[in-house]
Amino acid sequence: MKVTLHHHTPLVVCATAIRTCWQSFDKSDNGGEKDRELIDRVGNKFKHASTLEHLVYTFYLEDISRALLQELARHRMASLSVKSTRYTLKELKSEEEFTLEDKKRAEKYLVFTGVEMVDEMSIKALENLRLVLQAGIANDKAKFCLPESYKTELTWTVNARSLQNFIGLRSDKSALWEIRDLANMVYNTIPKDHRYLFEDYIKSYDN
Ligand SMILES: Cc1cc2nc3c(=O)[nH]c(=O)nc-3n(C[C@H](O)[C@H](O)[C@H](O)COP(=O)(O)OP(=O)(O)OC[C@H]3O[C@@H](n4cnc5c(N)ncnc54)[C@H](O)[C@@H]3O)c2cc1C
Repeated sequence: MKVTLHHHTPLVVCATAIRTCWQSFDKSDNGGEKDRELIDRVGNKFKHASTLEHLVYTFYLEDISRALLQELARHRMASLSVKSTRYTLKELKSEEEFTLEDKKRAEKYLVFTGVEMVDEMSIKALENLRLVLQAGIANDKAKFCLPESYKTELTWTVNARSLQNFIGLRSDKSALWEIRDLANMVYNTIPKDHRYLFEDYIKSYDN
């Protein structure tokens, strides 16, 4: 799994949005300590949380499973542009047979769980999919035998309010291990000067 932050809104944009309410623009220190404290006080402590929606983050998420994708997509307050299996499954067509002896090659396409039996069944499913594609069946139909472990990638744009909710729910030990990994990696990718807004939401965990 790889998480890259492509873009984020500077804190001063959110502070300026908050200052609109009181027309106190002259008190801004351009995203410095005063603005940071204001965002925390109004957005978090006063629960005027809609102001946090002015902070937006765009991440590129790679090598996550489609099992994780369907959980991530439940977070409605975010925007997703996902690698399309309909357009990209041809990547498998030119591959040689996937065998249990060569897990490394299959890992290019699959997220492994570390449970031998599950991972071997995933490789068999991948090989089945390859055979379906080699038989000339269109991606549109072939995709129905994709294993949930099949890797995907996406651009994910989310605002700070929704990201707090995501990190709180998905770093919890009750969440699926892979989305917990994602929540932790996303947290660690948030710019350092923004991270204080999420500290109360991240939960530590052991695998
Ligand atoms: C441990 C765990 C187990 C889960 N198990 C299941 C499961 O078995 N089956 C299943 O279907 N899902 C399951 N989910 C998914 C869960 O039900 C949510 O769909 C998911 O966590 C997204 O949360 P959310 O709605 O808060 O986020 P978002 O959709 O991003 O919404 C953010 C916030 O906006 C507000 N909001 C959004 N839409 C509405 C609305 N229509 N009405 C009112 N307020 C709204 C709410 O305050 C919400 O918290 C599970 C989630 C977790 C964390």
